[in-house]
Amino acid sequence: MDVAAAEKDEFLYRLRHSLAHIMAQAVLEVRPDAKLAFGPPVENGFYYDFDFGETPIGEADLEDIENRMRRIIKQKQPFAREVKSLETAERELRDRGELYKVEYARELVETGKAENGHLSFYRNGGFEDMCEGPHLEHTGEAPKGCFKLDRISGSYWRGDESRPMLTRIYGLAFASKEELDDFLARRKLAMERDHRKLGEELDLFFLDREVGVGLPLWMPHGAVIRDELEQWAREEEFRAGFQRVATPCITRGDLYHRSGHLPYYAESMYPPMTLDEHDEYYLRPMNCPHHHKIYDARKRSYRELPLRLAEYGDVFRYEKHGSLAGLLRVRAMCMNDAHIYCTYEQVEQEFVSVLEMYHRYYQHLRLGNFRVRLSLHDGDKGKFVANEDLWIKSEDMVRAVLRNLGIGFEEEVGEAAFYGPKVDIQMKNLLGREETVSTCQLDFMMAERFDLTYVDRDGSEKRPYIIHRAPLSTHERMISYLIEFYGGAFPTWMAPVQVRMVPVKESVLEYAHELAEALRGNLFRAEIDFTDESFNKKIRNAVTRKIPNIWILGEKEMEQRNVTWRRYAVKEQISVPFDKALDTLKTLRAGRVMDNFHDVPLPTP
Ligand SMILES: [Zn+2]
Ligand SMILES: [Zn+2]
Repeated sequence: MDVAAAEKDEFLYRLRHSLAHIMAQAVLEVRPDAKLAFGPPVENGFYYDFDFGETPIGEADLEDIENRMRRIIKQKQPFAREVKSLETAERELRDRGELYKVEYARELVETGKAENGHLSFYRNGGFEDMCEGPHLEHTGEAPKGCFKLDRISGSYWRGDESRPMLTRIYGLAFASKEELDDFLARRKLAMERDHRKLGEELDLFFLDREVGVGLPLWMPHGAVIRDELEQWAREEEFRAGFQRVATPCITRGDLYHRSGHLPYYAESMYPPMTLDEHDEYYLRPMNCPHHHKIYDARKRSYRELPLRLAEYGDVFRYEKHGSLAGLLRVRAMCMNDAHIYCTYEQVEQEFVSVLEMYHRYYQHLRLGNFRVRLSLHDGDKGKFVANEDLWIKSEDMVRAVLRNLGIGFEEEVGEAAFYGPKVDIQMKNLLGREETVSTCQLDFMMAERFDLTYVDRDGSEKRPYIIHRAPLSTHERMISYLIEFYGGAFPTWMAPVQVRMVPVKESVLEYAHELAEALRGNLFRAEIDFTDESFNKKIRNAVTRKIPNIWILGEKEMEQRNVTWRRYAVKEQISVPFDKALDTLKTLRAGRVMDNFHDVPLPTP
């Protein structure tokens, strides 16, 4: 992080912290009987928990509190720190009836967290709160229009449900009014485009309690998107010299002892099934060990390297219930996986080619909301294979490749795979939640563990290096991002329904059928709107379904063998002979044209 960004973060922290005080101060003006609990700064803002006894406040009170906060800000009240002994602190807090604070003050002293047994307080205006700080110099430092009280929810003192319910007031706060407005606009868009909401509206996928949490079921329309991505990957990988393999989803535990997944990765795996009396089988969390077995199925020569094995493989990970989120984080997923086995001399070139493939995919899909992270190991023996020299060597190599390619990246210690460093593409969804969308890993360890070798030019046996890569991520995670970034409007080549025909009269139905037949014959996904809705309603329905191409068919179109073409992303309609329209669709498909964006014109075939 650069200096300016760090300074801004520091300011935001003080701002949000101070606003929590100011809010509590304003609340006490309205409700002097309220008792304060905790009030920390959080991502995007701050909150404060209050005990209002029998009569909590409601959303309707927030405006009044906001106005009072603005008044306090205008008064430029300085924040002054004062340190008190436990005795003094406790007496004063008791006088004010702040029993939650008394409890916490004692705990701080008893657990040795209070410096010299003394407690820090901050006072502004007539308000005082026990707090470590830091704060703004004075309340007036809060930029105009930088905050908004957002919502109210219930909470418990330190999460303890046996205690009385508290009222939590959330506020949003940013460095300027513009940033707050920007956040609100993004949040609105994100809620409209939430992939869980759109996934249901567009019949792409669903989750079912009886099937289990984190186990999505793909509907026909969602399966189309998966298939199209997979077909694309298959072609790109074929051109890049990958060979496809297919391997099973369950495997004996022995394999995972050898690979190191047990113990390094055990907590993300499902518990074993005992079969054939004593054999333990696991659902696979990764495809790597199976690919290593294929490499090892026969003796390899340097002439075969680089050997590139690819598979869209199903994997299963035991993710914590609380971390599951639609398709973004699931327990069963299908990964655009591949492993490249190569010599030391080939590693760099292979790594470069893989990163270039990433670049092509991301650019084509117009995914820009990501940062590149170089994930390194640390000294944790429970998390990373011990071999310091090899770690350093591999990390240096990956760092050099990124630099040579001119890719901007941030380093993060402790985020490597247990067997080697990795390049992670960290992507934020519209709500700002960041996940690793794809990774590319350099592995210097598995060849050793699996005793993989190749016979070199001079007849000696050597260990190959392995690159793990999954540029298109898992279907689940990638499609969750695509749904949100595209707002559910997929380009023609990926769209579940590529053309919807809207016949304006009964008399043209036959013509519509004829075109539908021709489209199907050319492997296009087309449908006819047979409903009794009005014409305008039919168009609206097609737009709501985000169908990229609407063909309007009337008598004139039928006579001239034309279609009147309306595209999702543009308002104008054009009239085109059917043959030409079909050729245009073929061009859209062949080039995987991203015609879901306004700036992409309809190509001429
Ligand atoms: Zn504070
Ligand atoms: Zn792998």
